[in-house]
Amino acid sequence: MLRGEVTRIPIAYAMDPRLPDDVEPVGCAQVRGEVTDSAGYMRLTLAASVRYRGVCARCLEPVEDTFTVELERTVAAENTLTAEQLEENVDEYAVVRDGMLDLDELIGEELLLTFPMRVLCEPDCPGLCPRCGKPLRLGDCGCPKHETDPRWAVLAEHEWGSDDSDKT
Ligand SMILES: [Zn+2]
Ligand SMILES: [Zn+2]
Repeated sequence: MLRGEVTRIPIAYAMDPRLPDDVEPVGCAQVRGEVTDSAGYMRLTLAASVRYRGVCARCLEPVEDTFTVELERTVAAENTLTAEQLEENVDEYAVVRDGMLDLDELIGEELLLTFPMRVLCEPDCPGLCPRCGKPLRLGDCGCPKHETDPRWAVLAEHEWGSDDSDKT
């Protein structure tokens, strides 16, 4: 492409992904995309999908899901940009160094940076019952609720969320 011989390079390969420590990748990340050249203006689009295993941050149930990330960059040769231009526009440029574009670094970093801080089994996971520890997602555990027990209703109003009230 730099020699003007092609105007489009398709991208499809598998990459060994880096994920946060508490998440385990299942197999490789699938990377897809293309580089296009429109009269010297080169554009890179990339997407990566990775299957992962983790634990729900609220109910501690195992989670297995797929995370996908996409990015777009203007492709520029190293010597066409000043150091300042590069520093101020990290998210804008993909830089060709020694005739090579490091896709692993680009998409790998994006994957790691945008991966959710907290993995959830479902977006509105209700978490665990504070009394018996059962996941509330599985239905009512049968524990008495604060608001239905008149003995605790008054206390709960004043000390909502405090465990000390249970020990009297
Ligand atoms: Zn959950
Ligand atoms: Zn319970």
